[in-house]
Amino acid sequence: MVKAIVGANWGDEGKGKITDMMAKEADIIVRFQGGANAGHTIVNDYGKFALHTLPSGVFYNHTTSIIGNGVALNVPVLFDEIKSIVDRGVPKPKILVSDRAQMVMSYHVLFDRYEEERLGGKSFGSTKSGIAPFYSDKYAKIGFQVSELFDEEALKEKTERICETKNVMLEHLYHKPLLEPGKLLDELLGYREMIGPYVCDTSSYLWDAIKEGKNILLEGQLGSLKDPDHGIYPMVTSSSTLAAYGAIGAGIPPYEIGKIITVCKAYSSAVGAGAFVSEIFGEEADELRRRGGDGGEFGATTGRPRRVGWFDAVASKYGCRIQGTTDVAFTVLDVLGYLDEIPVCVGYEIDGEVTQEFPTTVKLEKAKPVLETLPGWKCEIRGIRKYEDLPENCRKYIEFVEERIGFPVTMVSNGPGRDDIIYR
Ligand code: GDP
Repeated sequence: MVKAIVGANWGDEGKGKITDMMAKEADIIVRFQGGANAGHTIVNDYGKFALHTLPSGVFYNHTTSIIGNGVALNVPVLFDEIKSIVDRGVPKPKILVSDRAQMVMSYHVLFDRYEEERLGGKSFGSTKSGIAPFYSDKYAKIGFQVSELFDEEALKEKTERICETKNVMLEHLYHKPLLEPGKLLDELLGYREMIGPYVCDTSSYLWDAIKEGKNILLEGQLGSLKDPDHGIYPMVTSSSTLAAYGAIGAGIPPYEIGKIITVCKAYSSAVGAGAFVSEIFGEEADELRRRGGDGGEFGATTGRPRRVGWFDAVASKYGCRIQGTTDVAFTVLDVLGYLDEIPVCVGYEIDGEVTQEFPTTVKLEKAKPVLETLPGWKCEIRGIRKYEDLPENCRKYIEFVEERIGFPVTMVSNGPGRDDIIYR
């Protein structure tokens, strides 16, 4: 059975925790999109970790972790990450890297930075990990695929070609130092050295695993609203964040994805720019940000303070629908225990009309939140393991959200740890 674990919102919903938890019963965990631009925070027996590239299942002995073809593979980052967990006592993970994955090159990171500089105040709030330049090159068919590393002659010729185009931009648009083909080739050969032993035809490996009835998890990065097609374009990421893309980014048949577990946070948070209808500000926001997540809402990759807001039923309903949700994992609920009353965004008012449908970006920019307020439960709910043991107002909050979004909440996460979970 293949299960996808994806985000309903803007990312940081707690997918890492859910994946780490579900990986206990899994054989293989696959990253299928994105790169080192977002992070997953995981708290388990080994400590607290911020992963960027490794799948969140690397902490078990029995799992195989796959970097799928859809990923933006930053080889040195992957290596540092493996080293950082092994240094902290985690058994050396079994990792396979798709021979069809493409690599983030050092110039992608530079172009990302130069472009943000050039745009100044009009920037997209990129994490400057090279992701947008990487995917642009992939679709412009000038990217480097892992398989190409093993043909040195062709590689040499290609580095010269790439430098020619890149240098036009560097010289005339950015006024920055030019690339040298020799250095680029050395960089690539260095990558070959590092990942050589892990390279595999992962789609064929997964095909066999599916036939053998293995349990496979697809781990998404970011969430529905950051999808380039269905999200808040252009304030989106550069690869699809949807479960459907799991089939492509892992190389498996779409009909094999039997469960789509959409992770949805009990309040909202977002990093970077873009419309955020239920956003709150000032002291109220500071308090939620400070109490949020596990030790505050600050980006796992960038350390940037996240924007926060009330639960947005309009965005989450859409986010769940576009994922093709079979199950909702409702997370970080424990954080809300301090509030007397909890506002929930139940509609958007756009040009005087109220809607429950998530609009395209132009309209979204004009939307004002319609809030409904629910009573808080005013106590700590961490440690509770049975749904019936949750305070009544807490259950009412969950059931209210469930009704509004229209998808079943089958898991409630009430703490960052592996065991902080309530099944319904
Ligand atoms: P991801 O990118 O979706 O994996 O999310 P992040 O890891 O960036 O952000 C989720 C944050 O919330 C992390 O710090 C987690 O440790 C934490 N977290 C996850 N689930 C819960 C929960 O149920 N309660 C609390 N308090 N923190 C949680």
